[in-house]
Amino acid sequence: MADEKQCPFCDCSERVLKENDLAQVILSDPHKVPGHLLIMPKRHVEKPWELTHDELAAIFDLIFFVEQKVIGKLGDGCDIRQNYRPFNELGVKHVVFHVLPRSQDDYLYKVSEQYEKDLYVDLDDMERDAVIDLLK
Ligand SMILES: [Zn+2]
Repeated sequence: MADEKQCPFCDCSERVLKENDLAQVILSDPHKVPGHLLIMPKRHVEKPWELTHDELAAIFDLIFFVEQKVIGKLGDGCDIRQNYRPFNELGVKHVVFHVLPRSQDDYLYKVSEQYEKDLYVDLDDMERDAVIDLLK
């Protein structure tokens, strides 16, 4: 498949820090915070819902492993993120979970997230009902 040939995560064995049968861990480069790790399936998968249950278990085994390693060393907590943005043509299409060590008022908070609290608005009935209908 052409996408796999051009995928930087399908050929990153020299960057792997930890792995199991179905998933692997590398450092994010570039990164948002020190210790920003990427956990991904070894198989090229583009949509998170296309991961098998075994791959999900393998990925989350590694996520929880690295979380326990970095908490208390690189941060006081962690964020786990998975972004599915097919509209981002420049982005890598290989499913990746980000583990970001976090601390109170850390760099990421100071440059970005302190402004996010202004994004929160009260949920209105029409929006709530629309999402409830969508999930039926
Ligand atoms: Zn790939």
